[in-house]
Amino acid sequence: MLLVMDQKATPEEVAAVVAAIEARGYSARPIPGGERVAIGILNNKGPVDAAFFLGLPGVRDAIPVTRPYKLVSREFKPEDTLVQVGDLSIGTGALTIIAGPCAIESESQALTIAEQVKRKGAHLFRGGAFKPRTSPYSFQGLGEEGLKILARVREKTGMPVVTEAMDFETFDLVEHYTDVIQIGARNMQNFSLLKRAGRAKKPVLLKRGMAATIDEWLMAAEYILEGGNPDVILCERGVRTFAHHSRNTLDLSAVPVVRKESHLPIITDPSHAAGRRDQVIPLSRASVAVGAHGLMVEVHHAPDQALSDGGQSLYPDQFERLCRQVNSIYEVFK
Ligand code: PEP
Ligand code: MN
Repeated sequence: MLLVMDQKATPEEVAAVVAAIEARGYSARPIPGGERVAIGILNNKGPVDAAFFLGLPGVRDAIPVTRPYKLVSREFKPEDTLVQVGDLSIGTGALTIIAGPCAIESESQALTIAEQVKRKGAHLFRGGAFKPRTSPYSFQGLGEEGLKILARVREKTGMPVVTEAMDFETFDLVEHYTDVIQIGARNMQNFSLLKRAGRAKKPVLLKRGMAATIDEWLMAAEYILEGGNPDVILCERGVRTFAHHSRNTLDLSAVPVVRKESHLPIITDPSHAAGRRDQVIPLSRASVAVGAHGLMVEVHHAPDQALSDGGQSLYPDQFERLCRQVNSIYEVFK
């Protein structure tokens, strides 16, 4: 349930409502708004007695929350969330483009790609240092050395960086070096990792699991918000279907559904959805047309030599074309 306080409610009245919620064994989550404060009631095992709370001074309304996810829902917070990364605001009002290689392979590789994508329209740089690979024989990433390279890329280009925290053991290290912490598709329901992300002081990019429903995905985001971190960016990266003309199927309909259900920003990753270069630009255009707040795409200056996902990595010139096209489409919907 969500209690909406009167516009003139005093801080003492808000505190008294919080105390009354806690006295009943629930948790209270005050949500400051532009006009008035709302207080979410969480952890109630059964129905909440609305009449009791409506009788408290300063309480204006009690709205039942029908969804299983609370903090991520529009019922709790009707206004869009903007996730701040340095000077960038990710969410409604801007189209954010994240680009870079699948994996950080060396400093010269990372810098070459970063300088190109920055010039052609990227706002953030991506690159894996810890790579979740299907085969144990595939390149696993440079680990901490990769994180140090990412920090140097940020220093030299001014672009914030995004990289994946693959496990609990290396989470602190990743949080230390990166600007945005990515949680990959394979870890979307790694609940101890989600709880750790909830305590992180940096924004989290939460990818949709490859077989996850939208409800499961939003519940995963709920773990992070419930843990105290409000800055989550959702990323649709394709789900498994019977189709094999692409590696996964980009679920474009997830974008409007998530925008309706949640106030969190949502981007797509057409590269991991397609698994092949020729579909990345069309799927990027489609993502922006259905309302994505941004894109994450893989770009490599020499895809044939890439140590991972070369087949889906765009050449820098293609990335430039992509930026031009998606920015024009975005303008149409502004
Ligand atoms: C990635 O973005 O590097 C990645 C491994 O993606 P996903 O978790 O979506 O497979
Ligand atoms: Mn990849």
